[in-house]
Amino acid sequence: MGISYAAQAAEKTAIEAKTGQLAIQDRPVLWTAKREQLIREYAKKHYGREMVTIVPQAVVVHWTASHSAESTYKWFYKEDYADGTLNVGSQFLVDRDGTIYRLASETALCRHIIGYNWCAIGIENVGGVNNAEDLTEEQLLANIKLIRYLQAKYPTIHHVFGHYQQDIARKSGLYREKVAGYRSIKQDPGPAFMKGLAMALADEKLVLYGE
Ligand SMILES: [Zn+2]
Repeated sequence: MGISYAAQAAEKTAIEAKTGQLAIQDRPVLWTAKREQLIREYAKKHYGREMVTIVPQAVVVHWTASHSAESTYKWFYKEDYADGTLNVGSQFLVDRDGTIYRLASETALCRHIIGYNWCAIGIENVGGVNNAEDLTEEQLLANIKLIRYLQAKYPTIHHVFGHYQQDIARKSGLYREKVAGYRSIKQDPGPAFMKGLAMALADEKLVLYGE
C-alpha cells in the first residue's frame, strides 16, 4: 500500500509540474446586444428565468467533431443559429496542440449542453470527427490546467463531466429543462479522456464520474 501511495503521489506531482503554467488566448466570438437578447430568450424558455450570466457550478468537457479550431471558431462566431435561436458555443476551445482559446466571458451563458447551460462552463476540444476517440495528451494536460484554474477562481464549481455523461451527471442535482423531451445523444469527449481527467482532478472538492 505504501508503494502504491508513493507512486500515486509521484504521478500527481509530475502532473502538477506539467500543469503549473496556464496561458489563455482571448478570441471572442461576435457579442452584441442581440446575442444577449437571444441568451435571455433561451434561458427563459429552457430554465424559466431570463439570465445572461451564470454562477459556475460545473465544467462540461466536449469534443467539436471538427478538424480545426478555425472551423469551430467560425461556427460559433455567429450570434444566432439557423432556426433563429441562440447559436451554440462554449466559453473555451482547446486546440490539438493544447492551445487554450477563451471565446466568451467565463460567466456568460453559452449553449453547449442541454439542461446545464445555466450553471456550466463548457470546454470544447478540437477532434472527435466521426466519434473517433482521438483527443491528444496536450489537450488532456490543457484541460487539467484549465479546470484547476477555473476551480480556484470559482469555488462554486464542484462538478466536472463529459457531454456523454449528461444523464449520470443528473446526480449532481444541477439538471434543469422546461421543454419536455428536449435532449440529444452524445459521445463526446469519450471515456478515455474523462478517465484521464478523473485521475488527475478527483479530490474532496470535485466530483467526477468513473465511466
Ligand atoms: Zn458536446
